[in-house]
Amino acid sequence: MTTETRAPAGARAALVREVLGAFGLAAGGTVSGVAYGGRFVDGAGAVFETLDPTTGATLLRVQSAAEADYTAAVEAAQAAFERWRLVPAPRRGEIVRQLGEAFRRRKDDLARLISLDNGKILSEARGEVQEVIDMCDFAVGLSRQLYGRQMHSERPQHRLLEQWHPLGVLGIISAFNFPAAVPGWGWALALVCGDTIVWKPSEQVPLVAIACQQLFHDVTRGTEAEGVFSLVLGDGPGVGERLIADVCIPLVQATGSCRMGQRVAEVVGRRTGRAILELGGNNAVIVLDDADLDLALRAVVFGAVGTAGQRCTSTRRLILQRGIAATFVERLARAYRSVAIGDPLDEATLMGPLISQAAVERYAAALVEIQAQGGQIVSGGTVLSRPGFFVEPTLVRSEPSMPMCAEEVFGPLLHVFVVDALDAAITLNNLVPQGLSSSLFTTNLLAAEQWLGAAGSDCGIANVNVGTSGAEIGGAFGGEKATGGGRQAGSDAWKAYMRRQTCTTNYGRTLPLAQGVRFFDVAADDHD
Ligand code: NAD
Repeated sequence: MTTETRAPAGARAALVREVLGAFGLAAGGTVSGVAYGGRFVDGAGAVFETLDPTTGATLLRVQSAAEADYTAAVEAAQAAFERWRLVPAPRRGEIVRQLGEAFRRRKDDLARLISLDNGKILSEARGEVQEVIDMCDFAVGLSRQLYGRQMHSERPQHRLLEQWHPLGVLGIISAFNFPAAVPGWGWALALVCGDTIVWKPSEQVPLVAIACQQLFHDVTRGTEAEGVFSLVLGDGPGVGERLIADVCIPLVQATGSCRMGQRVAEVVGRRTGRAILELGGNNAVIVLDDADLDLALRAVVFGAVGTAGQRCTSTRRLILQRGIAATFVERLARAYRSVAIGDPLDEATLMGPLISQAAVERYAAALVEIQAQGGQIVSGGTVLSRPGFFVEPTLVRSEPSMPMCAEEVFGPLLHVFVVDALDAAITLNNLVPQGLSSSLFTTNLLAAEQWLGAAGSDCGIANVNVGTSGAEIGGAFGGEKATGGGRQAGSDAWKAYMRRQTCTTNYGRTLPLAQGVRFFDVAADDHD
């Protein structure tokens, strides 16, 4: 089902200007995607047009960062780090608290901007801003809990401890699909940890980054935190490559495709820098015969169709036990046909557009290839004939051995497999190169525990009776294998943003060596 409530392209551009105006940004001609030292500057990089995924029309022109802008932005972040690292962590937390408040005040405006820039439906866009707010709250509490440990030394009158220091300038490279929340996982923690930030957002969603940067400026102006955020808009081959090779950036947090992450790992590894990699997923839901099917159905529809299948945690593979397979697929196909597709700003819409024409083309090409490999379309399968970047959510009956089942197709495409038992389902879950999110639907405690055990799901996220997408910030987020191994957001992910130091103090008058080693004795030397 499609809804037809889109405003004309010109009106949407005017709406963007109005929303940016609410942030205090004048968006007359071209807006700047370059900021450092607490203010936007006129960059010297290419000017590009940012498109509205809902209409395909131009929303605004954006100025990107040239080489000199990048250098100035990193220098400013380094200078800010010299000061910021000395500010007590609870005071850094107070700034993050104020940032959270600013996002709270602007929640609706930012959500509208996310819908316009990215095509995500309003409800999910509000959820995304809420995630930033939650991260700030979490980080504020953490600012008084950056605990080191004290251990008992094996040597008498010695004290042995570990402490955590600020690391330096954090480089954030973010993907288009969570333009506010995923960078927020990083900057909220990094700030309380004493780091400063150089952010290269996705060139596909520049407006959200610019609005966030304006909020950063509003909160930090005239405070100890002024200048801790630099923004360098640009594409991957340009600004992105410059950033990952930069020895001034000790830590790169990169969110995006597996291919991009491999490149980041290679370049950052070559200079022995650190990287937090949050890459693609190929997430499965398993539904056993004893599952609550209503629960499973809702979770699968949200997981596979929500965000137009453009979450790293989107459900891409559905593994059904034979007893319920036919009924479940029939119910799912019916649910797919009832999904309201249309303008993401319309509260009735459940699925908005894909991000770009290129994404639509990749989706269509994937469907052709899947069918060539033996997959059969059960529901959907077409590109919608209307302006903007709309496709139908698609269910495909596939064989796990099809090479396309190992790929992350970034859209609302779900492969369905049938198995006889849980063992086979777990094998299929773990068969793919990626290892992000996974879910089992069952009412059997033994099955649930097998799934969560060491020989169960091999993913960073393993759920029971909860879908693959929509994680809470309290738990560390990330995945194994080709997903990159990084962890962000809650739990103890903050440790990645600091440097750990082990300190031993001797408060005695002898110098016993560890492991009982004996070496040069001063007393013996004096007697000679
Ligand atoms: P993408 O890989 O095309 O781009 C992501 C970012 O990397 C962009 O800012 C881009 O400019 C930059 N980039 C690209 N090549 C680069 C290079 N050589 N050097 C430096 N930077 C480079 O991904 P996308 O299409 O924006 O986002 C979708 C992908 O992101 C999906 O694969 C999705 O699963 C993944 N993702 C993962 C997570 C996670 O937490 N695991 C979260 C969100 C998105």
